[in-house]
Amino acid sequence: MDLDLSGEHASLRQTVRAYMAAEVAPVVDAHERERRFPVEIVRRIGEMGWLGIPIAERWGGAGMDTLAYAVAIEEIARVWGSLALIVAAHTSLACGGLVLGGTDEQRDAFLTPMASGQVIGGYGLTEPGAGSDASGTRTTARSDGDGWVIDGAKRFITNAGQAGTYVVAARTGTSTDGRAQVGAFVVPADTPGFSVGRLEEKLGLHASATGELHFDGVRVPEGNVLGDPAGGFRLFLRILDGGRISIGALALGLAQAALDAAIPYVRERKQFGRPIGSFEAVAFRIADMATEIEAARALVYRAAWLRDQGRDFGLAAAQAKLFASEVASRATNAALLSHGGYGYVDDYPVGRFLRDAKLTEIGEGTSDIQRLVIARQVLDLRVS
Ligand SMILES: Cc1cc2nc3c(=O)[nH]c(=O)nc-3n(C[C@H](O)[C@H](O)[C@H](O)COP(=O)(O)OP(=O)(O)OC[C@H]3O[C@@H](n4cnc5c(N)ncnc54)[C@H](O)[C@@H]3O)c2cc1C
Repeated sequence: MDLDLSGEHASLRQTVRAYMAAEVAPVVDAHERERRFPVEIVRRIGEMGWLGIPIAERWGGAGMDTLAYAVAIEEIARVWGSLALIVAAHTSLACGGLVLGGTDEQRDAFLTPMASGQVIGGYGLTEPGAGSDASGTRTTARSDGDGWVIDGAKRFITNAGQAGTYVVAARTGTSTDGRAQVGAFVVPADTPGFSVGRLEEKLGLHASATGELHFDGVRVPEGNVLGDPAGGFRLFLRILDGGRISIGALALGLAQAALDAAIPYVRERKQFGRPIGSFEAVAFRIADMATEIEAARALVYRAAWLRDQGRDFGLAAAQAKLFASEVASRATNAALLSHGGYGYVDDYPVGRFLRDAKLTEIGEGTSDIQRLVIARQVLDLRVS
């Protein structure tokens, strides 16, 4: 694995970095302040192929690998966490569901429009009573012969109200040992009975949409079921394995943004007649940030690389997500403290970085759940 990226990875990094700096950075503050979803920018990056980076060209994507995708998410998050989350949920979760669980016909119908940037995707697993324990899914899907009727609700869904296609989990039955059987269903947003409920007011990531999905007798044809209607739970876990690489990359980008902001600030800001960066307490904070960020980057890229090699990457993805998200929290906090009172007001972006970073410790499995996943594998415990 090459940490000093070369070839197409380096070139993609440069392209994303340049576009984010020139076209996106100037509009971030206004969107965040007004809690406005960046419709135009999402449309534009879709046209540039950024909504299908790791998806095969056959399905409308850019045909690049997971490492390229991680690098792109990192660079987007370095400028705008909200946009990175929009892209990550769309790509890893919604497109990921079709890549992992779809037939060629389903990919033609649903993945190609998403990967080519014409349709935004959303992924609905979480419910009011089913968060860390996704097996608590209460939304149901019952077969009516040649289709399925879905009833229930989802909560905290990224891209709610903006997505044209949702991949959702619904309970299809109960196994003989009492476990929930869950299926994965593709639900186009214009299906009768489907609606978007309340959009959340959040701590951060203000320009991303997070909301409720309601299913009131939503009927989808048999062709909208991904794989075995009783075996979707395993599919959702596999989707989340991939998603964790992108949340790790998002965390990495936020941490890097915090360091990028802190370095010039502590070099220029003077107190007691000296730049504050010359005080050991401040300098060591920067040293810790720089070191931890490199370690997080190595873990995120390694997880992506393992996936690209076709090797097991679930453990590596959980470790990368756990570590990078906690580094993001520490680094953004350290950057804010290094700005003193200026870190607490909106003139500087470090407060936004800290607010956005907290989500990376929660979404796609909290840090506690990552530790659970890691411990089970390291200790070789049977997953119950
Ligand atoms: C901005 C945002 C975007 C999101 N986007 C999506 C999306 O697109 N799609 C989607 O499906 N979901 C999404 N989510 C939901 C997210 O994945 C869940 O919030 C997360 O999995 C935690 O579930 P919960 O909120 O119900 O918390 P809970 O599961 O109730 O957890 C509360 C606390 O209990 C701890 N805990 C729970 N169980 C255990 C255990 N067994 N061992 C140790 N500790 C435990 C947790 O770590 C946490 O600290 C999003 C959430 C947010 C905030």
